[in-house]
Amino acid sequence: MAEIMKTITSIHDMTTWARDRVLNRESIGFVPTMGYLHDGHLSLVKRARSENDAVVASVFVNPTQFGQNEDFTVYPRDPDGDSEKLRSGGVDVLFIPEADELYGQDYETYVELERLPLPLCGKSRPGHFRGVATVVLKLFNIVLPNNAYFGSKDFQQLQVIRRMVRDLNVSTMIVGCPTVREPDGLAMSSRNAYLSPVERKQAICLHDALMIAKGLFDKTETDASVYIKAMKDRITEESDARPDYISLVDPETLEDLPTVKDAALAVMAVKIGKTRLIDNMSLAG
Ligand code: AMP
Repeated sequence: MAEIMKTITSIHDMTTWARDRVLNRESIGFVPTMGYLHDGHLSLVKRARSENDAVVASVFVNPTQFGQNEDFTVYPRDPDGDSEKLRSGGVDVLFIPEADELYGQDYETYVELERLPLPLCGKSRPGHFRGVATVVLKLFNIVLPNNAYFGSKDFQQLQVIRRMVRDLNVSTMIVGCPTVREPDGLAMSSRNAYLSPVERKQAICLHDALMIAKGLFDKTETDASVYIKAMKDRITEESDARPDYISLVDPETLEDLPTVKDAALAVMAVKIGKTRLIDNMSLAG
């Protein structure tokens, strides 16, 4: 574990550093993020630190995964705070490129999956997963990681990346990590910073609704519509909460399940005021 964290902004310097690690037969663990780091991100860093010789974290607010009317320009940023957290977490390199470094003027190549991006978040965020898959593959080609760490909170993202890696024969291992929550159950997210104190209290409805689903599963309820109604009822109790989607899906295909038998994933996106939050919970036993 390095005492001093290096900060790298250029692709050339990042790849030179990574190639040296590869030549030394050191394994590289990689944690890609958009910054404004919280304990959820740091749990990925901790896992990467424990499983690799060297750890790289990136902070890059990726313009290609934001829609026209989304929050790219106002996305919270705290490069100094992030740097300090990553240094304390034992990261060897912080890779923090400018947008121009990754996407030059004449940029024209994207990674697009055919099916997995279509449901759930893909419906209200067309093009989002194209941007995610593209930037993740670019980062993998720059950082050369043996292992890359992603949170299960962004479950569709995790599945898109797993599928991309499989389909394109990328040699990086994808490690899915559990969702880290606030003490009241709210999944940690950089976007929680947008919530007013009143909205923050209301935001607990996402976790409450997932726990209701878990309760129904434990009582062996099989009708998905019963789950969805119960979850929706809890969410709409809050005056500023508007569900974007609430579904029970197959965790592999992300297709809707009409009946819940074996493994199912309860997933939702909910707007609390202007802030769109996502969460999910596995109902597999
Ligand atoms: P982001 O900065 O939001 O793009 O997230 C970077 C990585 O951190 C992604 O793999 C996320 O899934 C993961 N992540 C975000 N929030 C959490 C959380 N509450 N618990 C665990 N991982 C998370």
